[in-house]
Amino acid sequence: PAAAAAAAMVSAEAGIDRVLWTEAEVAARVGDVAAELEADLRALPEPAVVVGVATGAFLFLADLVRRVDAPLAVDFVRVESYGQGTESSGKPRITADLKVDVAGKHVVVVEDIVDTGNTLSCLIAHLEKKGASSISVCTFLDKPARRKVNVQLVGDGKFYSGFECPDCFVVGYGLDYAELYRNLPYVGVLKPEMYTKDSGN
Ligand code: 5GP
Ligand code: MG
Ligand code: MG
Repeated sequence: PAAAAAAAMVSAEAGIDRVLWTEAEVAARVGDVAAELEADLRALPEPAVVVGVATGAFLFLADLVRRVDAPLAVDFVRVESYGQGTESSGKPRITADLKVDVAGKHVVVVEDIVDTGNTLSCLIAHLEKKGASSISVCTFLDKPARRKVNVQLVGDGKFYSGFECPDCFVVGYGLDYAELYRNLPYVGVLKPEMYTKDSGN
């Protein structure tokens, strides 16, 4: 354990116990989701607004939109919950708002993972209040086993998902533990000794 922790000081990969989806598997699946999204966005009468949820969605959003040949705007929001460790608190709030006006626009929320659904519900309510005409959700991972709140899409909104995630805490490809491991190009599970008792999500 001490050796693993020491190795993790110089390498993110050294903290990983096992890989769930490799870089190649991620790229292939993101390509499929992008094709689906592209077809839908091309059918819209006007450009959509793609809203990334910082920070976790940054790699997925970047890889996704460069594969979507349709007119679209990109913006980010930050939604934080007061949770500690690997659990979210269930009380998220918007801590950095949009720059783009979404009134009357088709919005596609891009998320890293939908877990309990609390973050997304809060964000969808916020975007609906701003007058978005439709709200779709495009999440890299979906963990349906842990859902507490149903994700209510708005208007003609659709739900796009990359992979169904097993009920375990995953990192990489944007997802963090205590702000680390986001830069891994694949998704994996941490070695148990990498967890400290008071940090994380
Ligand atoms: P929710 O509000 O749906 O419960 O949780 C959403 C947020 O919790 C995600 O955007 C993510 O930041 C965090 N989260 C949930 N499950 C995981 C996980 O397995 N790994 C990581 N790194 N974050 C997670
Ligand atoms: Mg997120
Ligand atoms: Mg996090």
